[in-house]
Amino acid sequence: MIELQNIHKSFGRTEVLHGIDLAVKQGEVVVILGPSGSGKSTLLRCINFLEKPDQGTVRIGEMTVSAAHASRAAILALRQKTAMVFQHYHLFRNKTALENVMEGLVTVKRLPKREAEAKSLHFLEKVGLQDRLHFYPAQLSGGQQQRVGIARALALEPQAILFDEPTSALDPELVGEVLEVMKALAREGMTMLVVTHEMNFAQEVASHVVFMDNGVIVEEGNAATFFHQTHSERTKQFLQRVR
Ligand code: ATP
Ligand code: MG
Repeated sequence: MIELQNIHKSFGRTEVLHGIDLAVKQGEVVVILGPSGSGKSTLLRCINFLEKPDQGTVRIGEMTVSAAHASRAAILALRQKTAMVFQHYHLFRNKTALENVMEGLVTVKRLPKREAEAKSLHFLEKVGLQDRLHFYPAQLSGGQQQRVGIARALALEPQAILFDEPTSALDPELVGEVLEVMKALAREGMTMLVVTHEMNFAQEVASHVVFMDNGVIVEEGNAATFFHQTHSERTKQFLQRVR
């Protein structure tokens, strides 16, 4: 479903991704772990070319885009294949929950308003927000705002969803409701790439776990065995800190 080959990315003279290879199969939940600054967000952003890789190729489904010859049209087409859920939700403050979900459908997908609204209602219901449709972000809890973020991603009907620390900004008591929505999506077979520090979620939901440090994948493996196998020193230190 998603295949990354030899992704390199530098900011100025500092290379922060040193040739990442990663494969995500249809229906898999791949959890990416790693210390701050290891390149997790940059990697997710390279998948949809929000950051343009300096080298390497991204394949999503049938479409392959290589950094060396990435036309604007190819990047736009690639971008439509995934949707992203951000740590800080990135909702429009002056739009209601419903309008936030509709926005991309109307402006990017060019759906007629009525159709966009019906679709948005469906996905807001799916994340349990049918009674908050006309609330503005400021009138919603962090967990509710993030569920709007997930509904917005789902409404785009992407082939995969990229989550960048979706629960890191939430008060602890609000983390659970967001993880529940994500677990339900996983059960339905949504392909998901999730950067998170939620070890219980990783253990319970991930099919595959990737540990990154300093712009490389240090270790990866099947989720069932990853947390029990013997690790490299770097992975061990990280896991001890976050547990
Ligand atoms: P965190 O867990 O804190 O979110 P991360 O693993 O997501 O960290 P990235 O945000 O991908 O790490 O950053 C990797 C490195 O790239 C860091 O050293 C960061 O300072 C640098 N970096 C990221 N974005 C930019 C940018 N736009 N300009 C310059 N440097 C950047
Ligand atoms: Mg990050």
